[in-house]
Amino acid sequence: LEEQYVCIGCGVKIQTGDPSGLGYAPESATQKEDIICQRCFRLKNYNEIQDVSLTDDDFLKILHGIGENKGLIVKIVDIFDFNGSWLPGIQRFVGNNPILLVGNKVDILPKSVKHQKLIHWMKREAKELGLQPIDVCLVSSARGNGIAEVAELIDQYRKGQDVYVVGCTNVGKSTFINRMIKEVAGVQDLITTSHYPGTTLDLIEIPLENGASLYDTPGIINHHQMAHFVDKRDLKILTPKKEIKPKVFQVNEGQTFYFGGLARFDYMTGGKTSIVCYIPNELTIHRTKQENADSLYERHAGDLLQPPRMEDVEGFPKLIAHEFMVKEGKTDIVFSGLGWVTVNEPGKKIVAYAPKGVNITVRKSLI
Ligand code: GDP
Repeated sequence: LEEQYVCIGCGVKIQTGDPSGLGYAPESATQKEDIICQRCFRLKNYNEIQDVSLTDDDFLKILHGIGENKGLIVKIVDIFDFNGSWLPGIQRFVGNNPILLVGNKVDILPKSVKHQKLIHWMKREAKELGLQPIDVCLVSSARGNGIAEVAELIDQYRKGQDVYVVGCTNVGKSTFINRMIKEVAGVQDLITTSHYPGTTLDLIEIPLENGASLYDTPGIINHHQMAHFVDKRDLKILTPKKEIKPKVFQVNEGQTFYFGGLARFDYMTGGKTSIVCYIPNELTIHRTKQENADSLYERHAGDLLQPPRMEDVEGFPKLIAHEFMVKEGKTDIVFSGLGWVTVNEPGKKIVAYAPKGVNITVRKSLI
């Protein structure tokens, strides 16, 4: 029965079963003559974009659609989850359209991190992942830092054409769009007064000047994100609202650090040294001897070492070891979706662990 209804806003098929899915409307809304999905409802009444997620196939269809049009692609990534929030293959799908890469959540970075270095790293990493952005910038959608600048860049690069905002869930895409609405809509309340033509399936349209539009594409779920492995109630630990406080440790060979129960860092060889942990303040760091580390995890994942919560320990992916030899200078060992550990001196052997599927990478220190 549901299949017969489409949203008068965006044209999506209405469903009443999955509140976080695309096209959801509460049962009561389907009694009305004009049915509007919850996403459009929120946009219309509260000027607020709500995140919906969809399957990989649907997302590819949308990307394909974008590739057939001309416009600027704005790709949002979480700078603490660069690899985890990556959408592979975007370059291939979007054709010749320029891509502006926006790193979100810059407010969490400690002051000591040089933005230029981070941007440089993002460029290199993007290139390695097969993406050649026209530009890279940093913003805090939550606080508003850099938003005016991005709005300007968008205007410059879109050359009068449409803008498509893409990103996977949890990167802060909704927060970003909501900021942009305020930025581009300015004093006049464009959203509440405009109608959505409903021509483009699955895309939310925000009118810009000169007849072009900014489209919010639904966020895709990237199953490799650390965020998917923790309970919803613990997500706030992974998405801190405040600047991360670096924690310095003097370490000896054979010492292990657990970051909650989500990741592990073993200092193997290289003599006494110091490391700096840049991980969310609320995540407990537990230090132990390497020889005790495995049994500690077995006994205490879920209580002493959490998240994950006790009830989730069984389904939690196994921690997988990644070996690194720090060759030169200060080096960051980056746990996707969590943060990083800076090893201050070269010649050190590290084994870092993350849940199966979650990436660990190394980079030249940002500090
Ligand atoms: P979406 O799934 O990509 O639409 O992401 P949301 O906009 O729902 O944001 C995901 C989480 O990240 C929420 O807890 C937001 O509060 C948080 N968040 C979004 N943008 C920022 C930001 O710039 N800084 C910080 N610290 N948190 C942010």
